[in-house]
Amino acid sequence: MTLCDDALLCNFPKCRAKLSGFAWVTACSHVFCDQHGSGQFSRSPAICPACSSALSGKLDIVRTELSPSEDYKAMVLAGLRPDIVLDISTRALAFWNYQVHQERMYQEYSLSRAEGQLKQMDKVLTQQNQSRELELSAMRGEIASLKKMMEEYKRKYSEVSERLMERNRQYQKLQGLYDSLRMRNMVVGMGDREMPNHEHHDFNAGKCLFLSVGHDGDSRFFSCLEQEGAKSFFQFSTPTKDKGRTLVKKH
Ligand SMILES: [Zn+2]
Ligand SMILES: [Zn+2]
Repeated sequence: MTLCDDALLCNFPKCRAKLSGFAWVTACSHVFCDQHGSGQFSRSPAICPACSSALSGKLDIVRTELSPSEDYKAMVLAGLRPDIVLDISTRALAFWNYQVHQERMYQEYSLSRAEGQLKQMDKVLTQQNQSRELELSAMRGEIASLKKMMEEYKRKYSEVSERLMERNRQYQKLQGLYDSLRMRNMVVGMGDREMPNHEHHDFNAGKCLFLSVGHDGDSRFFSCLEQEGAKSFFQFSTPTKDKGRTLVKKH
């Protein structure tokens, strides 16, 4: 209730309706809307819903018209002595003052409660913010270490792919050499078949008679043995550890 509104509010708990028309006024200085007044004061004994005072007197509860007619205002205090008129007015003003004071107390209480809730919420939010901040910094640290790890993996990957490419190049080279050797062997073999006399081809014939696929540690030797001795053509690493084989082309 504000003074400029010029209206009282129903004192029934949680009603707070702005009063107009008729209001129920009690001797304990409380006032109620027509709905709550008629509901509460129809039963006996009447109890004030605001302060639980017993209202048993004849004039303890009065149903008052809040905007009385001009005729009523002209006649209600007429004939009374001035001191009585003033006494009545003073009591009516005291009632009004009490209501205004009550409303101010209620508003101040609501305000302080809201401020308390606000402070509490502010505290909770600050705590939440702090914990989020901590989580965030932990996550940032994790991201940084993951990035570092990823860089390391990238570096390793590029090294490995470099090595793989190098191995591929070696393999292609060897494959080419192997193919050319095989072709050469085939040519030699065909030459042998065309010769009717096998005795003609001995170790002193001066041709490539012998293809050796040897094994020496991690290296494999392809050798074509000629009469003057073994001659290594090339050498390469191999992951397999198969035993050296010797292909004798001469029967
Ligand atoms: Zn009410
Ligand atoms: Zn009361």
